[in-house]
Amino acid sequence: MPDREDIGRGDFGRALQALERPLVFAARDNFSGIDDVTDLGGTLQRASRRLEALLSEEQRGTLGDYAAALDGFEQLDRLSRTRLVARGLRLCHQFSDRRPAPRTAPLPQGGAELGLRAPTTVLRGVGPVVAERLAAREILVVEDLLFLLPRSYRDQRQEVSFEALRDGEVATISGVVVAARSRRMRGGRRMVELEIAEHLDAPTRLWCVWFHGVVGIVKRFDKGSAVRVSGQVKHYRDRLQMTHPDISAPSAGAIRRRYPDVPGVAPGKIEALCKEATRRFAKELTELLPVALSEALELPTQQAALETIHLANELDGDELAALDAASHPALVRLAFEELFALQLAVALRRRQWSGHQTLVCTIDDQQLSDDLERALPFALTGAQRRAIDQIAVDMARSEPMHRLLQGDVGAGKTAVAFAAATIALRNGGTVLLMAPTEALAAQHHAVLSRWGHALGMRVGLLTGSTKPQLRRSIVALASAKQVPLLIGTQALLSSDVELPDLALAIVDEQHRFGVSQRAALRLRRDAGHLPHLLVMTATPIPRTLALTVYGDLDVSILDEKPPGRLPPTTVLHQGGVIEQGSAAHAELERFLAAKERAFVICPLIERSEKIDVSDVISTHQRLSALFPQAKVGLLHGQMSAEQRAEQIAGFGNGTIDLLVSTTIVEVGIDLPGVNVMVIEHAERFGMAQLHQLRGRIGRRAGSVSSCLLLCAAEQESAAYARLRVLAESADGFVIAEADLDNRGPGEIFGTRQSGRPRMRFADLRHHLSLLQDARDAIDTLLKRDPMLRDQEHAAIRQEIERRFGGRTIFGVEAG
Ligand code: ADP
Ligand code: MG
Repeated sequence: MPDREDIGRGDFGRALQALERPLVFAARDNFSGIDDVTDLGGTLQRASRRLEALLSEEQRGTLGDYAAALDGFEQLDRLSRTRLVARGLRLCHQFSDRRPAPRTAPLPQGGAELGLRAPTTVLRGVGPVVAERLAAREILVVEDLLFLLPRSYRDQRQEVSFEALRDGEVATISGVVVAARSRRMRGGRRMVELEIAEHLDAPTRLWCVWFHGVVGIVKRFDKGSAVRVSGQVKHYRDRLQMTHPDISAPSAGAIRRRYPDVPGVAPGKIEALCKEATRRFAKELTELLPVALSEALELPTQQAALETIHLANELDGDELAALDAASHPALVRLAFEELFALQLAVALRRRQWSGHQTLVCTIDDQQLSDDLERALPFALTGAQRRAIDQIAVDMARSEPMHRLLQGDVGAGKTAVAFAAATIALRNGGTVLLMAPTEALAAQHHAVLSRWGHALGMRVGLLTGSTKPQLRRSIVALASAKQVPLLIGTQALLSSDVELPDLALAIVDEQHRFGVSQRAALRLRRDAGHLPHLLVMTATPIPRTLALTVYGDLDVSILDEKPPGRLPPTTVLHQGGVIEQGSAAHAELERFLAAKERAFVICPLIERSEKIDVSDVISTHQRLSALFPQAKVGLLHGQMSAEQRAEQIAGFGNGTIDLLVSTTIVEVGIDLPGVNVMVIEHAERFGMAQLHQLRGRIGRRAGSVSSCLLLCAAEQESAAYARLRVLAESADGFVIAEADLDNRGPGEIFGTRQSGRPRMRFADLRHHLSLLQDARDAIDTLLKRDPMLRDQEHAAIRQEIERRFGGRTIFGVEAG
């Protein structure tokens, strides 16, 4: 990689432009360009990588974070994608000489004309620096502050006397500063102590202690000044103490709110910003719920709800407790609205989909089973046959199929996809199969070519790394219908790819449905026609959630595994890594001696593969030293597609014994002969992810497989308990339900990095009845006005479009 010094300004300018240009294009016309750039996420990541090399250390970190956040970009909901584009533009401005960035530049106070979309800089005390810190937490515009909810509420209206201070209680008290001390601790950090009493000569003292943020305190509160503090009282070495209490000048007292931390911005400041944003902008919010509905459910308006949440100072103890427990009507209102909006979008999508024509694909039962018998090297399971029957019925109709195939890892979804493809091809249609990674696309290509051979099926492969010349010829063959089954990654969606008579689109391992639908819409060539759509997922979604998220899809479930499949024996060991002399070390030696191959999965300390692969590389070195007799391979996301394919192939044919890998193997890789997996620092992974990972082993009938989970956490810890569930159950649904209890739905969808998770306010552990209320309300609404065309529903329609990427819902011309 060239040195920064060696590179002229020209290179820098060009690299910057390469990042900026697609961003500007995507952002034009209120971000309507986002859907028009094929593989925008990938394009931005590539451009970021190029630019990264030319930046300073610190800037590189910032851009690296950004590139990491772009992972899975196409799968994010529209709002999150919009945000990422906005964030990218800000970064470009930051890196260029044009400073300050227009979006962070102090705008004239007011910003009313921008409304909710005004940048945070319209608020008091937000300059470019604070704006940037807020932006790092996805708080870009005032609306984001409105929906940033307090973590807790603290009533500081009631004061106690010094004599009434008790160990362990949270209290608010006013007094004067008797002494202020500041000293340096070991390590150079400063601490500040204020000694407080009712008056200078009063006997009872309270010590207030701070270990950071001390400069302001020392300046503001010197000896003799009147203060009011609030916090938890502790007995510490014979004195009463509060650590990091809230501190202010004495006042009438208020309900204080504690918001999620934003590094570099004081908690009190966040609180003030949320208040100001609510006061000035809450009235601009679109009221999504019909008034009659809110009244019937006795829910406040959105504005009233947010005012209670951020501003109200007259709440009684019950109300505060209800706010803390998320049962207050103000919070219920936000949850309800969220469920209502999500399900409304889903219902509309369904209607839009079913209103189209498609290629009718009929097939004789006998012919289909003959075909499958000739092609497949095994007999179908009962579950596979049922799913195929359902698909055959769907495809014989003139309305496009809209089906989710759900099946735990190893359930055999690929064979079902193959059957669906056979039906389409027998009817003269073409088929497209899209996978999330190149490795998986290549694997599907290999498997389906093998199976399809007996039926004379011609199968093509098209991914981002297909060489231009080959690519041109595949595209030409596809458009001449000479390769009627095309497999690939998102690269299939590029505009030069044309599949005439597209009858079926299959999307594999997709967690978010929006993508698949966008994809299918984009592929549509003749007006009014849509392909049949089959989405396959291994994510075991609890039924409660499936209703919400996949409510617009028919569902087939593969609840039976191919015969002879034994679940892996999962053993939990304490200690995060394979150490010399540990039990894990000994076990792995035994496996190697028995000629078994093993995956060793290690987590990345950094948040993304893009940032740092040094962990896997050092693990690779460690294991090479620990197992000198074994050939140790390495697999991670920064290797080229070719290098990765080479490692996977080597592992498959046994020239590699141990494959050290990141979670890149998580999705779909099928290496039937591998039976051992060791997962280091298992406590750092999510449960669903661990279940996916161990689904990579024991994929051949009758083989006994073992998964070792290495856990650095204490045996009594919650993390250890989670892993115990995995050790005890091999059923994806059991694990998903346990996971839901542990962590809530947002995490299951893996939406943590997408900024605004789809379920932000609703928590289905508490709000199941709301879900039903929302469905009933939507039924009533859509009975009266099926596509929301009435004037009185214009606001709802607009809001749904804004949140869920309207053109794929209302406009059929998306793509
Ligand atoms: P997944 O549902 O995780 O995508 P795959 O389709 O990759 O699962 O199938 C897992 C493995 O099981 C593959 O090696 C496949 O060939 C095999 N398989 C699928 N169906 C059957 C069956 N009915 N009998 C035996 N083996 C099967
Ligand atoms: Mg699969």
